[in-house]
Amino acid sequence: MFNNARLKLTAWYLVIIMVISFVFSFIIYQLVSNEINRFAMSQRIRIERRINNNNDNYFLPPPPTIDDELIEETKNRLLLNLLIVNLGIISISGALSFFLAGKTLKPIAKMVEEQNRFISDSSHELRTPITALKSSLEVSLRDPKFTIQESKKLIKDNLEEVNHLQNLSDGLIKLIQSPTSNQKIIKTKNSLVEIIDRVLIRTRPLALKKNITIINRTKKLDFDCDQSSVVDLLVILIDNAIKYSPKNQKIILRSEIKNNHLYLSVKDHGIGIDDKDIPHIFDRFYRADQSRSKVDVGGYGLGLSIAKKIIDQHHGHITVRSIPNKGAIFTVIFQI
Ligand code: ADP
Repeated sequence: MFNNARLKLTAWYLVIIMVISFVFSFIIYQLVSNEINRFAMSQRIRIERRINNNNDNYFLPPPPTIDDELIEETKNRLLLNLLIVNLGIISISGALSFFLAGKTLKPIAKMVEEQNRFISDSSHELRTPITALKSSLEVSLRDPKFTIQESKKLIKDNLEEVNHLQNLSDGLIKLIQSPTSNQKIIKTKNSLVEIIDRVLIRTRPLALKKNITIINRTKKLDFDCDQSSVVDLLVILIDNAIKYSPKNQKIILRSEIKNNHLYLSVKDHGIGIDDKDIPHIFDRFYRADQSRSKVDVGGYGLGLSIAKKIIDQHHGHITVRSIPNKGAIFTVIFQI
């Protein structure tokens, strides 16, 4: 598809260049031909005048005459030269157009490829829980001895599955709606205290369920950012810290300013991340093996890819340090 579109765009570029080149050549040919005709005409008048003046003097050599064939030949040569120049322009601009068409279409092709991958990943992720739901409903429907109690349990299980599906679709919508790194965001001066307050309101209920204490050691400071995106980002990091920590643990939030940069970190004492997984955890739908095997940890591997998008938008960085079974520290770095 990319090659086809590239060839079509090249052809369009070439048509435009050829039309311009031929129109210019036609104008040049007309102008130069007119000049040649005008030159021939004035030469003829001069020669006729000389002939008239010399009529009395028979001893002088006869004056030169205008050769019409030579004029015609000059015009033909001009036409041929213009054709050669046009051929040169076509071949050079053909190669240039092909190169430019490739350059123009490359980001579009990348975007289409990315979207296709996103659609196929999403359908794949959606298919598994939907198939599980469907088969459990079918099996119970076929069972003649299915009791009310069993059906209540089935409804409860299915409701949980539906909740997971809802989380997944919410995550997908968030991922689609979050602007890309080259889209401009409107940054305003925001107080870190206010941001952390909003983050804690959203993360406390989950922490309470596991009796996890969130210790806030961030400082009072202001920095430029898009407040709601940064709140979303910290909620993702703290939600993960809670999800991947055992009960009764502590999560520590810290802030630090170094060399015009703000460092915001979230430290947990949970299952940690294996070295081999760290380079992939920001990829869409990536889940490390140990989190997949934990049945009670819900998630579809979308949180960190949304977080990364928000960080890119702010032209920031994120680092991860972790020791398996000891915990993880995620540090977000913003320029201030
Ligand atoms: P998920 O919905 O699976 O949590 P994320 O994109 O937020 O998706 O995270 C991707 C993967 O990174 C998780 O599946 C988990 O394996 C790992 N991960 C993220 N945060 C932590 C953490 N604080 N501790 C341990 N593993 C983590």
